[in-house]
Amino acid sequence: MLIDRERFELATRKMPPWYQPSSSGNELSQFAVCPACDNPIQVIGLYRLPKGLAHPYGKHANRSVPGLAMLDVERRDACPYFMPRKPDRHARRRESDPFARKILRTVIEQFDRIAYVLEKDTGVRLSKKKLQEMLASYRRMQGHRYVGANLLNVPWIFAYMTKAVSLYGQKIVDNPELVEAIERELPHAALDHQARITNRDSSYVDINASFISHDCRAASDGQVVEEMIFCVVTTRYRKPMEIYRKSIRFDVERFHRLIKHSDHAQRRRDLVELARRELGDLLGNSS
Ligand SMILES: [Zn+2]
Repeated sequence: MLIDRERFELATRKMPPWYQPSSSGNELSQFAVCPACDNPIQVIGLYRLPKGLAHPYGKHANRSVPGLAMLDVERRDACPYFMPRKPDRHARRRESDPFARKILRTVIEQFDRIAYVLEKDTGVRLSKKKLQEMLASYRRMQGHRYVGANLLNVPWIFAYMTKAVSLYGQKIVDNPELVEAIERELPHAALDHQARITNRDSSYVDINASFISHDCRAASDGQVVEEMIFCVVTTRYRKPMEIYRKSIRFDVERFHRLIKHSDHAQRRRDLVELARRELGDLLGNSS
């Protein structure tokens, strides 16, 4: 995570708890909160870059920073910016875990942004009904409790924690390769004048989308790479057959910017309400 000195100074106005004496008391340390896991991070190199570093960066602190964030070791260990590694697909956070609830609240409150990010990444616009199906599926899979979920990868992990969804009737807004694959592999399918997937001769068209293989690793330049695969499948001889696939790299910075610098006129309140109807009760009284 790269940190910009000017922006950091502007955001904190050099006030405590962001600026405070180091443990030895001889220097000044800077702290922030990890945008992915909510743990305290120490800012390294804001005023004096260590050798070999081009930018200041955030390093997970090994203690709580009173007034800013408490250290949660379990959550820190699962954070890709602490240790990038493939998450255990089966590990779940406790139902009462406040962090899992915070993720759930983000899914609800940012659901229009989630739909937007997924549309940009897949080139497919899902109807409200499909989004509702995905929300119901996410609920059944308890997606907010998945250990690989954090506050930055919300749109992608939302999609990852759902089952396959039918693309019949859905609109392809920007994905020529997918259109080509449909034309090649599904002779009964057609696109109507609005680019929605439909059928040619009233026969059944079997076409589904799914998000698989969530992965996280450190690239050779030290950057965290988080990705999953978007695939479109049909059924042949009772087996799923992939007709299209695309690797989606999570652009977490973009999602972070989207939710921080919100343009309220652009928001789809109806989608947020949809998510609240489907998932809101899981927040319990803490909402
Ligand atoms: Zn973190």
